[in-house]
Amino acid sequence: MTRVVIVGGGGTGDACAFALRKRGFDGEIVILSADHDRPYDRPYLSKEFLRGEVDVPKVFLHEEDAYANERIELRLEQRVTGGSLDERTLTLASGDRVPFDVLVLGLGGTPRRLPALPDAANVRTLRSLRDSTELREALKKAKQVLLVGAGFIGAEVAASARQLGKEVLLLEAAPVPLHRALGQDVGEIYAGIHRSHGVDIRTGTTVAEWHTAKGGVAAVSLSDGKREEVDLVLIAVGIDPNVELPDTLGLQLEGGGVTVDGSLRAAPDVYIGGDIAFHHHPVLERSIRVEHWEVAKGQGRGIAACIVDGPTPYRKLPYFWSDQYDVNLEYRGNASGDDMAVWRGDPEGLKFTVFYVRNGVVEGVLSMNDSKTNELGGKLIESRRRVSRAELADADLAELVPAQ
Ligand SMILES: Cc1cc2nc3c(=O)[nH]c(=O)nc-3n(C[C@H](O)[C@H](O)[C@H](O)COP(=O)(O)OP(=O)(O)OC[C@H]3O[C@@H](n4cnc5c(N)ncnc54)[C@H](O)[C@@H]3O)c2cc1C
Repeated sequence: MTRVVIVGGGGTGDACAFALRKRGFDGEIVILSADHDRPYDRPYLSKEFLRGEVDVPKVFLHEEDAYANERIELRLEQRVTGGSLDERTLTLASGDRVPFDVLVLGLGGTPRRLPALPDAANVRTLRSLRDSTELREALKKAKQVLLVGAGFIGAEVAASARQLGKEVLLLEAAPVPLHRALGQDVGEIYAGIHRSHGVDIRTGTTVAEWHTAKGGVAAVSLSDGKREEVDLVLIAVGIDPNVELPDTLGLQLEGGGVTVDGSLRAAPDVYIGGDIAFHHHPVLERSIRVEHWEVAKGQGRGIAACIVDGPTPYRKLPYFWSDQYDVNLEYRGNASGDDMAVWRGDPEGLKFTVFYVRNGVVEGVLSMNDSKTNELGGKLIESRRRVSRAELADADLAELVPAQ
């Protein structure tokens, strides 16, 4: 009987296990997860769960007995530290060895910390359900929250903390929030949104010095020369993809992750998904690594399809969303800063779409409160047809999308 071992009980791993059963896979499925909790919906952790609007058990992806019912052996608090692809075994931190026929890795990432950061109880990072539970408790007592880094996690926690009535100072070294993911112009719109909700955003600013008292950070001196009192700090400066294990197993590292082919395969019978997959995307015709939830889940399902039916290219476009206050952002595809941006809609009214175009072909589409256009934009990306700036700005998009 074939034995699939999935390392990582996150977006990729959980989706892969259940999709295997849905596709009729009858062999053994084992999930080895370093986490203390059964798989949960990670995006809730900076939003509804953090604000206390969604709680355990709703945050879990499945009922507790679903794993046994589907004959998925879920082994929590099991860290895989090494192994051998030739011998088809993994080694756990406990020293135990686990054999496999097919290996799936969905290991996610570890939040980065900053150099010279004091090891203090009120300085936190956010990745796991435990992190979010502790942050939620700390927020209840906090008044002045400092968020270092205005990427998605920092920006979403800023919105949640404001919704909970906290004073929020959001620091970002780049010129605007979300600069790396969304660029200057959309970042400026986000700066305006946060400021209008009372967030004190300082861009182009970093922490110059941490001041501690009674075992915690009590204040910071900033690169702009100001000193600010704080009672809770969240460091949200991105993740380091967890590639130590794939490296130990001898898999090829590239683009911050692990090289996989169009079918998400890193080696015969070894598949990789989610934040650590540097995937050669068959539609976009280049390798990309994406740190987003739907991509991890989609790739988990794509891997299940490959295990059951044999390697098949994974063609789904990258997709992500972010909710901050009542503003919904959706993004399909994968653009780069050099692509031409074509705007459509009403940026001032916060209902618009931006198409990112390279050589006349749409590579990415970003929408704020404009879901329908985003969906059509995704179809346009998939079609690879050439379109003009005027068509994107004004034409009926449904007419530009070829019939399926
Ligand atoms: C707070 C927060 C909010 C987010 N919100 C959004 C959002 O709104 N929209 C969006 O698109 N994306 C969002 N994301 C990103 C999204 O959650 C990730 O991209 C996604 O979870 C990645 O899935 P994954 O399977 O690669 O890794 P993960 O879901 O992180 O799972 C990795 C798993 O691997 C385990 N693991 C790691 N190393 C080992 C090992 N050696 N042995 C055993 N187990 C191991 C971990 O314990 C974990 O269970 C958010 C992320 C966070 C942290």
